[in-house]
Amino acid sequence: MLSEVPSFNQLLKLLQQVPYLASKNLYRVAFHFLMMDPRNLEQFCKVLLQAKHNLEQCSNCFNWKEKDRTCSLCSSAKRDQAIICVVETWQEFLTIEKTGGYEGVYHVLGGAICPLEGIGPEQLTIEPLIARVQRGVREVILATNQTPEGEATAAYIASKLKNVEVKISCLARGVPVGSSLEFMDRLTVYKALSERRPF
Ligand SMILES: [Zn+2]
Repeated sequence: MLSEVPSFNQLLKLLQQVPYLASKNLYRVAFHFLMMDPRNLEQFCKVLLQAKHNLEQCSNCFNWKEKDRTCSLCSSAKRDQAIICVVETWQEFLTIEKTGGYEGVYHVLGGAICPLEGIGPEQLTIEPLIARVQRGVREVILATNQTPEGEATAAYIASKLKNVEVKISCLARGVPVGSSLEFMDRLTVYKALSERRPF
């Protein structure tokens, strides 16, 4: 049936490429776009393109930043630049930031080591992290997710920092095993962070 409406077919194929979009929602999302006011849809596409054009990852902490501005985290005088909280993705950075209780800076790894998916240390920003720590910081908080991949990544980073003089800590055990920080409530994350323990 869909072959008779090739434009719709094409739209569905495009939406299929969006990760996290459950296949059962594809038709609903396609319908939503088709029913949108053409001006709103144009604005939607414009903002998407603008974001792609104007944003880049900070070469120090790998958070998103405006291309023509310095990273507000790495250049902040209000933050303790000598404490680095290491997270897997930008979503976890947002989760910790939302607790409002952390005053250090961050390092976004870009994922966790997962050999089955072909993600090794070199696919992540581990090397820049080690270099950053070697330039002199007081503490590294390993806030990777408490999943096998997250734990393995934390252990790998800790082994790489073995000969560097720096305090290494990790989140308190309040965080349920096998869980992703992104889906945790603010208080749990805040407690896990404030009661962090040596790695
Ligand atoms: Zn930065």
